[in-house]
Amino acid sequence: MASKKGGKENIIHLHNVTKYYQMGEAVVKAVDGIDIDVKEGSFVAVMGPSGSGKSTAMNLVGSLDMPTRGHIFLDGEDISSMSESDLAQLRGEHVGFIFQQFNLIPTLTVKENIALPMGLQGYDEFEREDRVLELLKKVGLLDRANHYPNQISGGEQQRVAIARALANDPPVILADEPTGNLDTHTGERVMDVLKQLNKEGKTIVMVTHDPDLAKAYADIVYWLKDGKIEKITHKKNGFVKEIKRVLKKDERRK
Ligand code: ADP
Ligand code: MG
Repeated sequence: MASKKGGKENIIHLHNVTKYYQMGEAVVKAVDGIDIDVKEGSFVAVMGPSGSGKSTAMNLVGSLDMPTRGHIFLDGEDISSMSESDLAQLRGEHVGFIFQQFNLIPTLTVKENIALPMGLQGYDEFEREDRVLELLKKVGLLDRANHYPNQISGGEQQRVAIARALANDPPVILADEPTGNLDTHTGERVMDVLKQLNKEGKTIVMVTHDPDLAKAYADIVYWLKDGKIEKITHKKNGFVKEIKRVLKKDERRK
């Protein structure tokens, strides 16, 4: 059963999730007991400085990685009890990923990159062609269909990556520093595409180290520091409101 809070379904829910890495003698607490709720249709940002655990948290949110401790629910199902093949299937249906480095395949054209994830979903050739054209249109790249990644700009490459993430029409898009390699203007075009997708009903989870970006686009921001959630802020009618602050030990004693 999907957990319900505030009326809307939690499409993803992290409950007291921890991810530790053993590095020789030392333990790296990359993510250290976090709770994250992602409601259907929302735009969530995970904000924090470099090394605060954002990418680790995103990989957990996208069930690309298993937690050391805690529970992750994807569409109401606890993924820790699932087989790797069931999980891969569930992930494929629910989540599209976008990365800072675009991760396009250099030997495939724009069109072929976008069509790649459709291979396993039983589309025939014509349906695939239609779908690719529709996605190219959505990200404004119809005239770049037969280019190779090294023949288009960084911003265009990232929009190809967005189209690829949408190939199988997942309800959730996860983006790890999607504008991290782009200049401000090009980055804004990429953000506009994400904003438009959110308006059309996609749930967006974006990781960023840029507080202005988080505040400008997200309804809810999880502020990470040293693997912990420091605070959660909420935007309503254009105003940012703090809804939760996790007290530090010395603050708690007062
Ligand atoms: P961010 O994305 O916020 O920069 P990360 O989630 O990549 O942070 O990393 C959080 C912390 O965990 C860092 O100290 C990083 O060095 C460490 N870390 C991340 N992945 C691994 C790994 N596979 N093995 C060991 N340590 C890791
Ligand atoms: Mg990172």
